[in-house]
Amino acid sequence: MILSHQSPVPWFDDFVGVAYRYYDLRMNVVPLFSDRKQATNLWHDTINRWLDHSIKVRFVETDDDYWFIMAADSESPETNMSFFKMLPKSENYERFKKGHDGEAYLRLGTYSDKYLKDVKNDAICKCGHVAEDHDKNDEDACLYEVCKCRKFESFQVNLLKKKKTVTDIAFLDEKNVKDDSLAWNCLNVNKYSKLK
Ligand SMILES: [Zn+2]
Ligand SMILES: [Zn+2]
Repeated sequence: MILSHQSPVPWFDDFVGVAYRYYDLRMNVVPLFSDRKQATNLWHDTINRWLDHSIKVRFVETDDDYWFIMAADSESPETNMSFFKMLPKSENYERFKKGHDGEAYLRLGTYSDKYLKDVKNDAICKCGHVAEDHDKNDEDACLYEVCKCRKFESFQVNLLKKKKTVTDIAFLDEKNVKDDSLAWNCLNVNKYSKLK
């Protein structure tokens, strides 16, 4: 095979989101999976073979959303993949943007929905009120009269232990996306070429 004719690294977006957490004294970027096995396999087959210094993470902002983009050179190019996901900006995202200081740990994580039966009394619902303020006898609705919450809902994120260090992190606005070859490649393949 002639190197310059190698097929491009495939883009992968079959994950549920990205969490940003302080853990081990450093910010962690955590792509989330609903299935632990899928996350473990993906780490083993793809990310574990990445060369740390080559890992790039890009954030391309477009109004209230952003594109999460992640890629690296691999010891085994045949199993390599690049990741992307379009996500709504969140408080945790903004905190990461301000606080990462040019470096982060990359980990994978699992995300699961939690309902009233799954949690302790002090677990916090998406409405902001704790579990014990929800009524098991009224389909788990919130007891606060002013609250519109009809059913307790929460979630849990677990981080897998293995990690890689990322030192190439950049934030861009979509109108400047051409300035960065990885970000440009991602949006070109996954957005612009699909609009035609
Ligand atoms: Zn609630
Ligand atoms: Zn409530």
